Amino acid sequence: MTETSDSIELASRFTPGEYQELLESCRRARYTFVLSGALSGRSTPPDRRRLVWLRHDVELSADAAVEMARVEHSLGIAATYLLCPQSPFVPPPALRGLTARLAGLGHEVGLHLVHDAEDGREGLRDLADHWAEKLGLAPGGPVSLHAPRMRNAAEVARRCPTPHLYTCYVSGGWRYLSDSTGNWRWGHPLEHLVPGGSPLYVLTHPFWWFGRPIRHPRPVALDFLPQYNEEP
Ligand SMILES: [Zn+2]
Repeated sequence: MTETSDSIELASRFTPGEYQELLESCRRARYTFVLSGALSGRSTPPDRRRLVWLRHDVELSADAAVEMARVEHSLGIAATYLLCPQSPFVPPPALRGLTARLAGLGHEVGLHLVHDAEDGREGLRDLADHWAEKLGLAPGGPVSLHAPRMRNAAEVARRCPTPHLYTCYVSGGWRYLSDSTGNWRWGHPLEHLVPGGSPLYVLTHPFWWFGRPIRHPRPVALDFLPQYNEEP
């Protein structure tokens, strides 16, 4: 990220080729790609440990999400795209078309929402229903929270209408790895493709892999991306 007094510019940190290599490495290690329902523990795939869930939070670029989705589709892989209609970077009209494109490529589509923790789970469920209808999504799909201001995942799960997206790595043994802000803060997935390892919960943001540079007014961007204020 580069900043001036009134704007910030964001640019990708990884390459499409690196993303394809990541997927192919999972395949070579005989990991199975699953969708969000697998995190609830209701279904027990044959080798539970060699699972990988690809969650993509779409909050910086709709075009990058389509490019990522195409790469996955070309490899026969389905992932979960969680769209953030409250992002100042991606207006809701762009997301409505995106929903159909992602679903057409065989992917699961849900929501990534900005939500005040004080409003609780019912408030978030209402917000999710509102946006699901506007974006043409089926109600009851996966929901995650953008930059939740809560102390730990168990607290987030209590707020979330799909709590298994958070409880899975508190009590379900999934290893959570995220490219948040363009860095693998908890290790790179390739380091965790090891025999006997945990199932992997890999959160990526398509922009960091397929995005073209974007410039945005600084106060609006940093209000939406508070984690950038924590960067060294
Ligand atoms: Zn987010």
